[in-house]
Amino acid sequence: MATEKSSRLVVFYASQTGNAEWIAKNVHQEALKRGFSSECFVLDEHDQVDLSKEKLLIFVVSNTGDGDPPDNATKFFRFLRKNKSKTFLSLGDTNYSNFNNTAKRLEKKLLELGASPFYGKGLADDAAGLETVVDPWIENLWTALADVCVQVRKDDIDVEEITGSVKTLSVAGTTQIAQESLEIHATNGKSNDNSDLKNHDLPRDLRGNKVVLDFSELDETSQLTALSRVPVACCRIVKLEKENFIPWSSFPSFIVTPTPIINSRLDSVRCLTQPDSIRKTLHMELEIKEHGKEIVFSPGDAFGILAPNDEVLVKDVLVALRIDENEAKQEISIEPVEGSELPTHLKQAKSTSVIELLRYAVDLTSLPRKALLRMMAEYASDKLEKRNLLFLCSKQGAQQFNRLREQVPTVLDLLATFPSCKPPIERLLDTLPPHRPRYYSIVNSPLSNSNTLHFAFNVIDYHTPDPYNVRKLGVCTSWLNKLSGDTTKQMRTLISQKIDIPIFIEMNTRGFTVPPDISKPLIMIGPGTGVAPFVGFLQHREFQIKDLLKRDVIIGEMWLFYGCREKEKDFLYRQELEGFLERGILKKLLVAESRAPGAGLGGNPKYVQDLLRSFGREIYELLSRREAMIFVCGDAKGMAKDVNESLTEVLVEHGQMERSDASKLLTRWLEEKRYLRDLTLDGSMSVNLQHVPSIQPSSPIR
Ligand code: NAP
Repeated sequence: MATEKSSRLVVFYASQTGNAEWIAKNVHQEALKRGFSSECFVLDEHDQVDLSKEKLLIFVVSNTGDGDPPDNATKFFRFLRKNKSKTFLSLGDTNYSNFNNTAKRLEKKLLELGASPFYGKGLADDAAGLETVVDPWIENLWTALADVCVQVRKDDIDVEEITGSVKTLSVAGTTQIAQESLEIHATNGKSNDNSDLKNHDLPRDLRGNKVVLDFSELDETSQLTALSRVPVACCRIVKLEKENFIPWSSFPSFIVTPTPIINSRLDSVRCLTQPDSIRKTLHMELEIKEHGKEIVFSPGDAFGILAPNDEVLVKDVLVALRIDENEAKQEISIEPVEGSELPTHLKQAKSTSVIELLRYAVDLTSLPRKALLRMMAEYASDKLEKRNLLFLCSKQGAQQFNRLREQVPTVLDLLATFPSCKPPIERLLDTLPPHRPRYYSIVNSPLSNSNTLHFAFNVIDYHTPDPYNVRKLGVCTSWLNKLSGDTTKQMRTLISQKIDIPIFIEMNTRGFTVPPDISKPLIMIGPGTGVAPFVGFLQHREFQIKDLLKRDVIIGEMWLFYGCREKEKDFLYRQELEGFLERGILKKLLVAESRAPGAGLGGNPKYVQDLLRSFGREIYELLSRREAMIFVCGDAKGMAKDVNESLTEVLVEHGQMERSDASKLLTRWLEEKRYLRDLTLDGSMSVNLQHVPSIQPSSPIR
């Protein structure tokens, strides 16, 4: 603990999907308003300040992959040695096996370096809703901060003004009283000036689905407490004096990607599943010939696709906000509100249009945050709607808020549910999370064909659970499905039209690739589309072997553990995999059928992890005598944890080890990159695949 108060604080963030950045910037802005001197930086720009001299640092960090730091913190993690820190706040997801690993690693390292916390860390969980931890954490931060940091203004602070409105609100018994009470707490927001309609009814053809909610509990409630904070306003729109219309472009200039964006051409499509499969998986090939040397890739690499939000949804949002479509196409620039900073995804939006921003800059479909509802409450002109929105943001409304999330409403659905609410477009841009590229593993090896990129994906198309039963479509996968003509053909079908798909290669820093040393046996585990990179691994090995055949070399065995529901319906890349087996490239192809009769009963395997246990002795031999490498690709939530457990059991049983030693060995192999995992998190909402054809992915989407 510092004996002398620090004159200022620095807020650092590391963010993969924009949540941590958004929270850090809100903390920073609120600190300024409360009279603290504050600066805010992304972690990889830590050299903007002299860390050896800073006394007070706040970290807001999230996780990616299996508890790894976000891309914009990798340099900082290398640098860490010189750091001095005071406190942490982290965002995570309990669905990851290494929940909030980044924050824990960061904390451990900083404590080792002599930092001392002035305020406990908050471990927020996306699976349970970040606000549950983040809001009270910020709420209590200010008292702790005042003890260690100089606060210029103390007495004249109007907390209600700072947080946009109240934290506790009286809503005594009747609706009428609630309305009066709401009037007292007049908002600082004005409804959208673009409104040219006099009534609050949305146009009849608007496609938003009203969210089903029950506000009867509100009549029994006298007070709403722990209301979430109103997000800080940071964007303003600057219109050009002369009218200039921005033409439709396949990727607007404001999108910043880690590697250059190139326009690939959709070459062909093939359906990998049978019509009676509960989901549809497509294989697509993109031509990249024109970009020859710009694209260098290896098996295990992924690439990002920049898909726009659905055009009907975009236009309906404009209608709901009363923004004329022509006006939405006019050239504008996004500038920061005085004293604030733009979020990273809007920093380059200098010559763009509102419609382009709705297509490519913000996420219109992901699970709404409380902050969005809180902002909407500020702009609801109907008092009952305002009261209901505030209820959803309060402690008392937690159950209905969860109910709202179960229905995965789009922004349009929310605007249709609360039609008097017409926030200015700037406030939506402030509050909505960034629209993100969707990542897919490359299925082909460059040794086989470097002019095309092959990939596979499940078409996201499902209904929310009963009683809501609303159809939901994935952003990127439905766009691709539509572009390719919604095919169900199992044969490769060439696309005759010229269809451009903007893509960029993801830099693979994880070492998830085929080792150049072909004597290494590879144990590959990838159910569902998790098999995608392994098809590339096998192609690659086949070419490596052909190259070396005349020499006297040992060739490591390749084993693939694959899982599907029923072989006859959804055995992805069956022909290719059986071909590798016949040609001896694949030593073993082990397939678990989770929905075959008897699966999981009487010792029958259901999942890949069951097969791992059945072949425990052979696996142990490969690991102990042949230094095999283990690759796991797929879902982080269930599969990766269970596979890790099975591997632990294999080591215990066949290596006669203590369980703790087996766990330590696996951790060591992870560190040494002998055990590699490419994991994603699916199903931010729980849906029952018995009833729905497809599942909603979260981050990153594949
Ligand atoms: P999926 O179709 O949902 O499932 C494939 C098989 O895995 C089914 O038989 C399923 O069984 C089974 N399964 C369910 N829970 C399991 C568990 N806990 N352990 C082991 N097996 C389990 O698979 P998917 O949606 O394609 O998912 C593959 C994952 O790979 C996704 O997370 C995806 O994001 C990721 N991924 C995709 C790519 C790509 O390029 N497309 C690349 C890398 C990773 P039941 O449903 O019968 O229970």
